[in-house]
Amino acid sequence: MLNKKSVDDINVKGKKVLVRCDFNVPLKDGRITDENRLVAALPTIKKLIADGGKVILCSHLGKPKGEPKPELSLAPVAARLSELLGQDVKFAADPEVVGPNAKAAVEAMKDGEVVLLENTRYRAEETKNGEAFSKELASLCEVFVNDAFGTAHRAHCSNVGVTQYVDTAAVGYLMQKEIDFLGNAVNNPTRPFVAILGGAKVADKLNVIANLLEKCDTLIIGGGMAYTFLKAKGYEVGTSLVDDEKVGYCKEMMEKAEKLGKKLLLPVDTTVAAAFPSPIDAEIEVSVVAADAIPADKMGLDIGTKTAELYAEAVKSAKTVVWNGPMGVFENPILAKGTIAVAKSLAETDATTIIGGGDSAAAVNQLGFGDKMSHISTGGGASLEFLEGKDLPGVVAANDK
Ligand code: ATP
Repeated sequence: MLNKKSVDDINVKGKKVLVRCDFNVPLKDGRITDENRLVAALPTIKKLIADGGKVILCSHLGKPKGEPKPELSLAPVAARLSELLGQDVKFAADPEVVGPNAKAAVEAMKDGEVVLLENTRYRAEETKNGEAFSKELASLCEVFVNDAFGTAHRAHCSNVGVTQYVDTAAVGYLMQKEIDFLGNAVNNPTRPFVAILGGAKVADKLNVIANLLEKCDTLIIGGGMAYTFLKAKGYEVGTSLVDDEKVGYCKEMMEKAEKLGKKLLLPVDTTVAAAFPSPIDAEIEVSVVAADAIPADKMGLDIGTKTAELYAEAVKSAKTVVWNGPMGVFENPILAKGTIAVAKSLAETDATTIIGGGDSAAAVNQLGFGDKMSHISTGGGASLEFLEGKDLPGVVAANDK
């Protein structure tokens, strides 16, 4: 799965190359409010331009639900990409995505020029991986490159269907980087390998817990999901977030860790408050209590100080660290301490550090540690599925080397 043909393995001189990017950027009043995804796509686009390809870009944006929605047009992306690339990116406005306008724009292309198609989700077939739209996309090009890791866990026309009708389907640099970091970490890690899981619910990450427990040497649990584990240990957890249906599962995981000889670290203390903060960043009164002494009327909202030290210590001896999900309600500065402590320990280690997931990536960036990490995944859902050990359709569909 990991040995995929990349843009370094293909010759695109004079050829039409369709590149599936992830230009799903946040927009406000037609303006792009975070252009990280555009910047992340530049290396592949520049490489294909430099190699003399005719570069046809495509992406989805938001959820137009299969029909043209002007507020979800990719036109603002074409304008900003032109500035970032320092060359014109022609926008092929076309309600059918691959309609007469798009075809004419592609026909007129010279080597090294760039065209951006309209939002692929203007077409209802896109998310159903329909044959007709897949063929239409393929008809525009001779070579296909997939650089959209954020949608790699979905089988859609523009990342999977299209590959059936082209001779060459390679991956771009961004996709390659994600595969290399996440793939190596999970399947071939330099040990000790420490995995840190947090976030809201156990139920969201059942398969991630089970898979990482097998792959890692130490599994650290924090965030809201920790309280279901503490309950499984027979502790009182007060009004903390608990998934009663998953208490048995947590017990199983603890037994599994024991059997496999893996370390499973749970909070030894926790920061509690009378209730969940409202609004989320409200100033609230908190105290730190031992994990087995949570008062019945209190809610655990962050790991405690001793736990933060314990987790930081575990990270120190690691050579590979994968982190998904915050340690507490990090949106509130009073409850962000555990997440900050863990982020800091990752920032200070020489280990390969990989952040997977939307909220964890946001937390790390928001706390100012972004540039200290080896890799911050651009795909929330896709990186989680990778950590679950699942094959990602968007990756599988590319040609092997
Ligand atoms: P994504 O799923 O987008 O990749 P993620 O996996 O990083 O994100 P989520 O599972 O979505 O994380 O959980 C993040 C949320 O969990 C945050 O909004 C945070 O406030 C919340 N959270 C963390 N700890 C607790 C807690 N103890 N009680 C309640 N909520 C919590």
